Amino acid sequence: MWHLLNFVLGAIIGSFLNVVIYRLPRSHLSILKPARSICPKCGAQIAWYDNIPILSYFILRGKCRNCGSSISVRYPLVETVSALAYLANSFVPNLVVYLSLCLFASCAIVMSCIDFEFLAIPDVTLVLSWVAGFLVWWMKGFPVWNAVGAAAAMFLLWLLGIVYRGGMGEGDVVLIGAIGIGVGFIESFYVLLASSVSAIIYALVKGKGRLDPKQKIPFGTFLAPAGYAILLVNSLV
Ligand SMILES: [Zn+2]
Repeated sequence: MWHLLNFVLGAIIGSFLNVVIYRLPRSHLSILKPARSICPKCGAQIAWYDNIPILSYFILRGKCRNCGSSISVRYPLVETVSALAYLANSFVPNLVVYLSLCLFASCAIVMSCIDFEFLAIPDVTLVLSWVAGFLVWWMKGFPVWNAVGAAAAMFLLWLLGIVYRGGMGEGDVVLIGAIGIGVGFIESFYVLLASSVSAIIYALVKGKGRLDPKQKIPFGTFLAPAGYAILLVNSLV
């Protein structure tokens, strides 16, 4: 029951994260107003029965009921990923770590999507990620190696950002710190390795087999989920 509850909660929170992903980078929009979701194309208010996480997208066959314009597949995707992340988190035995992982997973989804579209990570998600990382560090009894790992990974990424100007930004450096403090020394480098490999694969696919050094890569899009995955595994074993 606890696990099912988490899945449903994750889907509902995913629905809210979609709002954040759309409104946060668009500074003229407020996160809280309007409270009801509207279709970005025609502006029609979306009825509650058309706003059920994951399901509504399929019931509406991906189209707005009012204007018929297609709804981005990102909406059900974010809700499903969020539901699965909360389901996975529900297996974490420590309550504080569980809450931290829920916070981090939510931030990771937002950072991943916004960085992909805008090549920037919002400050508020970085601050909340640090809160989550710090709480996990606290629950482990403040091991000094976690701090060393976080600092080393931050330095490495910062250095990489100077050498290679293709997309590593300040946001990524701050983010690896939040992850590193939570996961530990060796694990920080697992996170860097996993996110670098997936970012290179993405760049290769996008460049049709070629690596263009001038191409901008949304590194946070890969760093945030890699960090979450290692944080999760780290908290389960
Ligand atoms: Zn519409």
